[in-house]
Amino acid sequence: MSSNYEAELKTAIQAVTLASEICRSVQKTITDDAMEKKDRSPVTVADFASQAVICKQLRDVFPEDSIVAEEDARELRLEENTPFRSRIREEIEATGHTANEDDVLNWIDFGNHDGTASRFWTLDPIDGTKGFLRKDQFAISLALIVDGEIQVAALACPNLDAGKNWPDAQGVILSAIRGKGAQVVPLDLPGAVPQTLRVAATDTAANARICESVESGHSSHGWSANVREQLSTTADPVRIDSQAKYAVVARGDADVYLRLPTRAGYEEKIWDHAGGVLVVEEAGGTVTDVDGKPLDFSKGSTLKNNRGVVVTNGLLHDDVLAAVSAAEK
Ligand code: AMP
Ligand code: MG
Repeated sequence: MSSNYEAELKTAIQAVTLASEICRSVQKTITDDAMEKKDRSPVTVADFASQAVICKQLRDVFPEDSIVAEEDARELRLEENTPFRSRIREEIEATGHTANEDDVLNWIDFGNHDGTASRFWTLDPIDGTKGFLRKDQFAISLALIVDGEIQVAALACPNLDAGKNWPDAQGVILSAIRGKGAQVVPLDLPGAVPQTLRVAATDTAANARICESVESGHSSHGWSANVREQLSTTADPVRIDSQAKYAVVARGDADVYLRLPTRAGYEEKIWDHAGGVLVVEEAGGTVTDVDGKPLDFSKGSTLKNNRGVVVTNGLLHDDVLAAVSAAEK
């Protein structure tokens, strides 16, 4: 059956919008004390609540579709986690949706598919949990994969400034349908006219504005320093948590996003990339792994055929790949 994917995009945007509301509300409750103690309970509550409402909405509209999401409810079903279950239910009910705890557990487990179906959604209910806990950047990333190709993406970045079109707004939803371009709207202005996303025109490697993970355990900072030396770039890298890195490349505020493996054998999770990849590609950018191979979303829940990720505005891709290769120790 052919599809223009408009219905899928509409549902995906509605789902990540609702999840953003919940995540923001939970993020506001994080105290300095909790931050100091590295108390992960807010992220646990928001992660599960986000996954529950998104899976519920997808299942309501597309009951045949599978979902490959980051979390599962096994631990949450344990007696000792009863307080978490009621907090999650309360956060969902605060958005005006009724939910009982059994429903919530079942909704979360709609996301347990392994990615072997020909058509499935992949979801990161909170990408960048460390950023979320620091009250900094995080993202909610949802994408539809059909026969190994990403067809639809909705990427919410609730704490990212809305960019030059909406200077006073914070929070954006970037979205794309394959072949139809990528767009952005502010999260809090649902009636705003969506703006087309376009990567930057930077064509001199020395001028590249590079972003990477805040966490050196997720992307090698040393390797990227060597890449910058190879490219003769002088600017410091911009460190941002989550798929907000894809967002800043897609809208032209950065030229390159490097995700350079910190150890052999790590398999990137599809939900950490699918949403961001389609948005950048449809904004005119290029995404490959560090060896220049296209990302292969047909291998289940991880990118097991790939090593790391290199995202650019397209114009700089060959230069950046050459530098990444030359800079590998
Ligand atoms: P970032 O926000 O760029 O730091 O990326 C956050 C994501 O990094 C999380 O969603 C994890 O799935 C993922 N992650 C965890 N361990 C690693 C690792 N060793 N290498 C790359 N990514 C990782
Ligand atoms: Mg993630």
